[in-house]
Amino acid sequence: MRDAVIRKTAADLRVEPNWVEGQAFSWAAVADELGAPANDFNIARLAIDRHAAGPRAQRIALRLLRVDAEEQALSYAELQRLTNRFANGLRALGIGAGDRVFVLAGRIAPLYVAVLGSLKNGSVVTPLFSAFGPEPIATRIGIAQAQVLVTTEALYRRKIEKMREQLPSLQHVIVVGEGGTASAIRGTLDYHAWMSRAPDSDPAVRTRADDLALLHFTSGTTGTPKGAMHVHGAALTHFATGRFALDLHDDDVFWCTADPGWVTGTSYGIVAPLLHGVTSIVDEAEFDAERWYRILQEQEVSVWYTAPTAIRMLMKAGPELARRYRFPKLRFIASVGEPLNPEAVWWGKEVLGLPIHDNWWQTETGGIMISNAPAMDIKPGSMGKPLPGVEALIVRRQDGAVVPVEQPDVEGELALRTGWPAMFRGYLGQEERYHKCFADDLYLSGDLARRDADGYFWFIGRADDVIKSAGHLIGPFEVESALMEHPAVAEAGVIGKPDAMVGEIVKAFVSLKPGFEPGEALRLELIGHARKRLGAAVAPKELAFQATLPRTRSGKIMRRLLKARELGLPEGDLSTLEAGG
Ligand code: ATP
Ligand code: MG
Repeated sequence: MRDAVIRKTAADLRVEPNWVEGQAFSWAAVADELGAPANDFNIARLAIDRHAAGPRAQRIALRLLRVDAEEQALSYAELQRLTNRFANGLRALGIGAGDRVFVLAGRIAPLYVAVLGSLKNGSVVTPLFSAFGPEPIATRIGIAQAQVLVTTEALYRRKIEKMREQLPSLQHVIVVGEGGTASAIRGTLDYHAWMSRAPDSDPAVRTRADDLALLHFTSGTTGTPKGAMHVHGAALTHFATGRFALDLHDDDVFWCTADPGWVTGTSYGIVAPLLHGVTSIVDEAEFDAERWYRILQEQEVSVWYTAPTAIRMLMKAGPELARRYRFPKLRFIASVGEPLNPEAVWWGKEVLGLPIHDNWWQTETGGIMISNAPAMDIKPGSMGKPLPGVEALIVRRQDGAVVPVEQPDVEGELALRTGWPAMFRGYLGQEERYHKCFADDLYLSGDLARRDADGYFWFIGRADDVIKSAGHLIGPFEVESALMEHPAVAEAGVIGKPDAMVGEIVKAFVSLKPGFEPGEALRLELIGHARKRLGAAVAPKELAFQATLPRTRSGKIMRRLLKARELGLPEGDLSTLEAGG
């Protein structure tokens, strides 16, 4: 029998944890430690130049694993020279502070150089998923009125060439040739030639903490993606959360599996580890269970940050595969993006020897807000507790007012007291929508949750996804987690289906693990299993099998699409739908 709490003892911590409850904290102290005043504050300078000027200059900043090429390692000193060149190159093109640079590339060195070089130049940068189709790329470039696009030759030919006319804001397209060759596409600049013309001296651009730095689009799970705007000062959150939520220590090898097209791949795939001066692993390839285990083993990853969907895929691949590898250096695993089913937390402990630590945040929050830090006991299924410097509350809307709920275990909307440094500063082109996210000094997340008596937060569902059935408020997560406990279930997505009698009935979509076949007997067995766990009022009334569930490119189950398809309604914005969904 599994306990409700995974207790941590000193033996579970291989290093002194960075965060223990009750420790003093202030944002001013974090700013002091980074040593940059608000009027001279730049993410890239803090992430790279600070280390390149000191004893970490020759340390590997990024180790880039490739698909069809040799792996590449960039030291902090090399990254400094490359990002200086990139910034100077932008200057030479007349691109300056506040101008918008888009990057459309796989996880290869020029992507990282372009993001950090743009930041160094004071330009506002947006990395996009390279798998986006031409339409979503053009829409985003259009909304942002981007002046510069950095991409690869293959992506240019497949996705940009035909659209170029429709992108009048684009003044410069910088193209990375394939396989190290020069690119010679008319009307574009060859990345390597352009870089080699620019000096690698310090571009000496000054930015302020409240200058815009990054424009990041949300995942599009609930509707059309929104462009969240972030400032340089967000680095204070990235630094603090890298320390407290991810427990980064000086000698760590850190692997964040997210693509920079999703905010996690920027805040934690680029900024946070570099601020800490550690070595980051970047893998160009897409998910592959065997490859991932091999990377964890061979690269001696010590801190690993991934997502529930990846963990569920590893679970689906079976424990035998995991047991062929050894991870003696791995000491901390964290996950974000979707609710992490208790089953997944336990799988980590039982198969990898380490539980998975869930944490919660959003594109809008810019960095981790609620987390399970290494020294905390884990309550599987809970997102953890607010990080130092973060005040999270459960609120309810009453007669037009927003009222905090003081008692524990009451459901309500998850809200954050404004004032953390990485808070977004707007939705591009949607001012009213931005203002609607706030009530007095509270940011309203749109997620429903509850806080227990020990201060742990439990995710219930997105406000849009919560099911109202016969007077019950049902969170899809609870139902999905119960289904996941059944050995046949690889993944589950749960929706509310309108019903004349009870308002909505619970319908589940389930994909199976290898070795299980869909069929009436299994369908009834799964419904029976859920009834036993949840009671008849909450368990699904209907259950359908699907080979895979539709997902966003950042790996989230798109319940709105399951619902639209079930009801025969328009499918809405599908720009972030993963291929095959
Ligand atoms: P969109 O806003 O376009 O619908 P999105 O909300 O999925 O997309 P992101 O900003 O990438 O875009 O995701 C943030 C959301 O992901 C949160 O609001 C929450 O619903 C979900 N989420 C993130 N982490 C967790 C977690 N640990 N547990 C439960 N849900 C999580
Ligand atoms: Mg959202």
